[in-house]
Amino acid sequence: MKVFKSKTELATYLKGKTNIGFVPTMGALHKGHISLIKLSLEQCQYTICSIFVNPTQFNDKNDLLRYPRTPEKDIKMLEEAGCDIVFVPENDEIYPEGDVLKEFDFGHLETVMEGKQRPGHFNGVANVVQRLFEIVKPHKAFFGQKDYQQLCIIKQMVKQLQLPIEIVAAEIIREPDGLAMSSRNALLETEERKQAAGIFETLQLIKSKSKELTPTQLLQLANDNIKKYPLIHLEYIVFANAETLQETIIFDKNISIIMFIAVKLGKVRLIDNMLLAS
Ligand code: AMP
Repeated sequence: MKVFKSKTELATYLKGKTNIGFVPTMGALHKGHISLIKLSLEQCQYTICSIFVNPTQFNDKNDLLRYPRTPEKDIKMLEEAGCDIVFVPENDEIYPEGDVLKEFDFGHLETVMEGKQRPGHFNGVANVVQRLFEIVKPHKAFFGQKDYQQLCIIKQMVKQLQLPIEIVAAEIIREPDGLAMSSRNALLETEERKQAAGIFETLQLIKSKSKELTPTQLLQLANDNIKKYPLIHLEYIVFANAETLQETIIFDKNISIIMFIAVKLGKVRLIDNMLLAS
């Protein structure tokens, strides 16, 4: 596996190569990330992973400082997975002019859920992904549905900028107890980690009752179920249209509905989602 720190050297190496698959990450890799690498390996000739903890998408400085970093382990995991290239830039490779950002307009997609809770987050995400796309010039880029709203934002960005890149969505990979894999899980204390399984339990419970209860009753049930876990502090739990992300409490059988949840356990913020009906 080739390791690049310099965007110029990477771009030179990739020049003229076709069928490039790209997996952007912030490192502290787990099986969820590796599932994206595997998809890319299946579908593309060259698979490149970037590891860059993007400062412009953190609206909370402490969150950025605390974000887990495991560079040696990451490289080993990527090598074992068969990844061809890893790009590990420093800040000034990506933001040579400091954090002067382009202002995107994603309309409704960036004003709900994570966009509402984390002002500026998606603008930072779009800026870094656009810059990485410019360097790597991938043919396909792979994103996890765990960050479903981010996936919608990236698809919208590719459309707005008319980039010739196919965005591939990958399934959520979970721990044996159902907790969605996340780099942030490593920051949970033992008891928090145990109770974090309540997130998936709640999503599954709601899915299992989604044909017999009304959306309002389902939300009540979700809130009640989460209360069984005193360490889980609910930020939001909503139903939204899978395409537009419009929040809804009316289910229409012609529209796919996803249940989205964001919680805090101690200082650790976690998100998850589940398709209810399609
Ligand atoms: P991150 O390093 O958290 O920025 O994530 C990098 C990519 O991995 C994003 O496209 C995420 O959606 C994806 N990802 C993170 N966790 C999971 C998971 N549990 N299952 C599938 N994809 C994931």
